[in-house]
Amino acid sequence: MQQADRIKNLPPYFFAEIDKMINRAKAEGVDVISFGIGDPDQPTPEHIVASMVEAVRDPSTHSYPSYEGLYSYRKAVADWYQERFAVELDPEKEVVSLIGSKEGIAHFPFCYINEGDLALIPDPGYPVYKTAVLLAGGQVETLPLKKENNFLVELDNISKESLERAKLLYLNYPNNPTAALATREFFQKVVKLADRYDIIVAHDSAYSEVYLEEEKPLSFLEIEGAREVGIEFGSLSKSFNMTGWRCGWAVGKEELIESLGRIKTNIDSGIFEAVQKAGITALTSEKTAAAEMRSLYRKRRDRLVTGLKELGWEVSPNQASFYIWAEVPSAYQNGEEFSRKVFQETGVFFTPGIGYGQQGDKYVRLALTVSRERTEEALERLAEGGIFS
Ligand SMILES: *Cc1c(COP(=O)(O)O)cnc(C)c1O
Repeated sequence: MQQADRIKNLPPYFFAEIDKMINRAKAEGVDVISFGIGDPDQPTPEHIVASMVEAVRDPSTHSYPSYEGLYSYRKAVADWYQERFAVELDPEKEVVSLIGSKEGIAHFPFCYINEGDLALIPDPGYPVYKTAVLLAGGQVETLPLKKENNFLVELDNISKESLERAKLLYLNYPNNPTAALATREFFQKVVKLADRYDIIVAHDSAYSEVYLEEEKPLSFLEIEGAREVGIEFGSLSKSFNMTGWRCGWAVGKEELIESLGRIKTNIDSGIFEAVQKAGITALTSEKTAAAEMRSLYRKRRDRLVTGLKELGWEVSPNQASFYIWAEVPSAYQNGEEFSRKVFQETGVFFTPGIGYGQQGDKYVRLALTVSRERTEEALERLAEGGIFS
């Protein structure tokens, strides 16, 4: 059978190969400690689970949900934006529910990308931006995120030609995998540029509540004029340990929300209403759960950064997200070589940065989704394995 070109041309999924390697080792009896998992290890907070249980018993949630999401859910998202970012949104026109933010991120290019149209995407970056644009028939140009520039896109380095051609710009702060935060000045520059060159900004805000220092991440929509050029994707996944529930949203310019909603009504039928009701609980209930989540990641980060430093590997502590984006020790060519060596010697796994783009070549990503006990065990094995000596 002949696959369609759009699938044939998709790059192979890098992480599928890695999963194979890890599973092979496990089958051989290796006790793997993986820092590769971008999924919270903690359960969803109990009060959210309880609200889901109640909603599931209510037969009114059992039918097809509304396409755009329950009004009460969209209202909860709008109220949360008001409280958290002082951004006012019309729940009817400026909010749409998503089956997890990935779903919206992946469908969005179908609304605005024609065959051959250009989208600008960060490198390193969440792989979905690229594949979604390619599936829609578009082309991508990567924008390097460099340490010297605090992993912000170097807007001045984008060629005039690319700016004139580009229809869409994906951004993601707090950033996966670099853990960088955007500044207000940066976002202001983005708005200016987008306005001038007529580029739609799609901001992925999946980690907005995963911040480990005082400074709270900004919403792109806080910036004056952002609403005229952009859409922002959000999610309960990382903020409330709800990755399995598939519950997110897109907010922003009415016209963009309407387009995304139109694509979605033709493809999916919305989020299970019981999940939306649990989502309302997550967004409106007391904020202790998110604070506990941050405190847990902060402790793990501090222990890991200190432990690695004692072994002779200095990594920068992440300010936000639950990832440490670490430059590989100079004795190694690149992240792949380093990751392979560490895994073979110790059964500890770090994700090679190249999986997120060319700029990640000299990096590995360490997810803080490993318990304290297992982190101690990993540090011991790294010391015994002589990885840094
Ligand atoms: C996890 C993640 C998402 C997707 O989360 P959903 O579970 O689909 O809401 C989106 N963007 C980035 C950068 C992520 O890491």
